[in-house]
Amino acid sequence: MSRIVIVGGGAAGLELSTLLGKTVRKEDEIILVEPETHHFWKPRLHEIAAGTFDSDLDTVCYFTHGARHGYQHYQAAMTDVDRENKMLSVRRPDGTEAAIKYDYLIIAIGAVSNDFNTTGAKDHCLFLDSASQARQAWHQVSQILRASEDRSVNIVGAGATGVELAAELARVSQKLQRYNGAPLHINLIEAANRVLPNSPEKMSEKVLKELERNNVNVLLDTRIREVTDKGMLTVDNRELDADVQFWAAGVKAPDWLNGIGGLSYNRMNQIQVNANLTTTIDDSIFALGDCASIPQADGSFVPPKAQAANRAAVHLAKSLGGMLRGKPLTDFEFKDSGMVVAVGHHFAVGSFAPGSKMEGKMVLQGRLIRRLYDTIFRLHQRTVTGMFTVSRLMIAKRLKAVFKPNGI
Ligand SMILES: Cc1cc2nc3c(=O)[nH]c(=O)nc-3n(C[C@H](O)[C@H](O)[C@H](O)COP(=O)(O)OP(=O)(O)OC[C@H]3O[C@@H](n4cnc5c(N)ncnc54)[C@H](O)[C@@H]3O)c2cc1C
Repeated sequence: MSRIVIVGGGAAGLELSTLLGKTVRKEDEIILVEPETHHFWKPRLHEIAAGTFDSDLDTVCYFTHGARHGYQHYQAAMTDVDRENKMLSVRRPDGTEAAIKYDYLIIAIGAVSNDFNTTGAKDHCLFLDSASQARQAWHQVSQILRASEDRSVNIVGAGATGVELAAELARVSQKLQRYNGAPLHINLIEAANRVLPNSPEKMSEKVLKELERNNVNVLLDTRIREVTDKGMLTVDNRELDADVQFWAAGVKAPDWLNGIGGLSYNRMNQIQVNANLTTTIDDSIFALGDCASIPQADGSFVPPKAQAANRAAVHLAKSLGGMLRGKPLTDFEFKDSGMVVAVGHHFAVGSFAPGSKMEGKMVLQGRLIRRLYDTIFRLHQRTVTGMFTVSRLMIAKRLKAVFKPNGI
């Protein structure tokens, strides 16, 4: 019998926990260590921050889900690893410490925003790194949406997170203005010369147009020097006053992870792993998702994307299940399917994968692409809950939309 301990129940960890129940041997034990009680799909955290997320239908309770899918949810946060004795140290919600023995440890704790040590960012910005932070953000956003005079929001970073957040807030504000809400001025601030700097230029152009159509004030080539409780100061001394400020630029694995267990880490605090997802230092420890630096055959590294986290989980579930039956581990190869970014509830822009023949040539946009964006989430839900449950959830959502008053 082997005990497999998975740390982090996000895009990678929850899929892995679900799938491993089917691929490992009957006698193997699977434990998911996760501090939260419910799983939220991270690419939808901006919807929580904008008050448009449906918590009833789109979350998964780890405890009941684990009981159904053959793993145990241990509610705690990883704090350390003792590799010599194969023990994982954790902190429970009541603050007590505990240790969990493992035969195989899989680390999938994700990433956090990178504020690049900008003065005041930690104290005066909201971050969308977890569901609880997103809920905290909604608390502040809801206050300014109720205000009787105009209010402003600063969002630093025009990657997928910043773009999706800006568009969602713009939509909510527009809807509320019909009911006498005061306008919300949204500044989306980006250091590069285009939004979505890592996507094809055509995609950036289309997304920019759509953001501007929704009255988002996009400031390109703009670097923030300092954040205060009143607003932001750019490196060229422009002042951007705001009532609520978000930091959504860049990702890195959390600082506390770097150095744990004497594993090898890169500059973004990511754990360095081999192509088969074992860490370069210890082959009983694996890492995947945003917290892992996974090499590809062409010398590049797997990007920090939900799609990559999901695929690595599917791969490892199969590969680890095989290894427990005496087969060798196999290498993970990430084939990028491109990118879809939601710009509000009814519009999305998508592009083909880097390296594909269509890269940069064709960028799709519109309502149908928005449906495709939803499908990516539904595929994750299908892996986690099964096709039957996803179909029921989709019907329930449609019905809810029909009976809901015409609000946000
Ligand atoms: C607002 C937003 C929009 C995004 N939009 C897109 C998009 O459009 N397309 C895209 O591809 N990607 C998008 N992303 C990125 C995507 O969400 C991540 O790449 C993906 O979630 C990474 O999966 P993961 O499993 O590595 O980490 P996560 O999904 O972040 O999961 C990590 C899990 O680890 C848990 N955890 C953290 N610390 C500990 C600890 N100490 N002990 C135990 N557990 C711990 C967390 O609670 C969490 O459940 C977006 C991200 C955000 C925030």
